[in-house]
Amino acid sequence: MRDADLKSRMQSSLLAIETAANAYVASVTSENLHNFPAEPNVGKVTGDELVTNYTQRFAGKKGPARFIYDEIKALPSGDRCPYCDQRDIATLDHILAKAHYPALAVAPDNLVGSCSECNKVKGDTPPNSLAEVPLHPYFENISGERWLWAHVNETAPCSVSFFVVVPAVWPPILGTRLVRQFQLFGLDALYGSQAAREISDIREGLSRHFAVGGTIAVRSELNHQWQSRIQNQLNSWKTALYEALTISDWFCGGGFQQR
Ligand SMILES: [Zn+2]
Repeated sequence: MRDADLKSRMQSSLLAIETAANAYVASVTSENLHNFPAEPNVGKVTGDELVTNYTQRFAGKKGPARFIYDEIKALPSGDRCPYCDQRDIATLDHILAKAHYPALAVAPDNLVGSCSECNKVKGDTPPNSLAEVPLHPYFENISGERWLWAHVNETAPCSVSFFVVVPAVWPPILGTRLVRQFQLFGLDALYGSQAAREISDIREGLSRHFAVGGTIAVRSELNHQWQSRIQNQLNSWKTALYEALTISDWFCGGGFQQR
């Protein structure tokens, strides 16, 4: 930091920034993030200065703290966006937007790798209630129960709808948040278009199974694919898709040929 005045004010505000980062974690774990205070300034530093610090020194390609940005981008696992679970991670999303919560601009727990599309859709609006707080990939794991399901539409070409069924064992607010997030990120449409591509890819292979063993052979092949995917990931769109295809009499009986 060449600006001596800014450097001095930034250093004297470090404690306030660290305190905000710790309070953030306490708010996430007590499901109280929607009440996190949106302060325009922190200590002796303005919100604009903190946001510029993030943009230039932290996220900037040649910024001195860019290596930390890259390390966070590589979390939590794999390279897919935790919001859509489909597109590649391309950027860091602020769970609480830096525009309204500049104290959290570089708080690691507030930074989550995401795809550009989800980052854009999520926007900067502060949450008004817990229902509007996105599920936090570091703190809220929902992979243990099955919640993503699909339904085959008997149309030409065949299409598939995706939807959430909230597990009965979940607290209702968790289901509300997931359903809202599923709609916000347009996951039915995203998964629907991926499913259409997948069906197109497997059509030829299914036709060969159908020619040899009819509906039973098609179902057996799809069931095989379903079992393989459910072992890998309980809530992927492919798991939901192959289950829906397997149990559809219409699809297995020749519906897959509709184009
Ligand atoms: Zn995404």
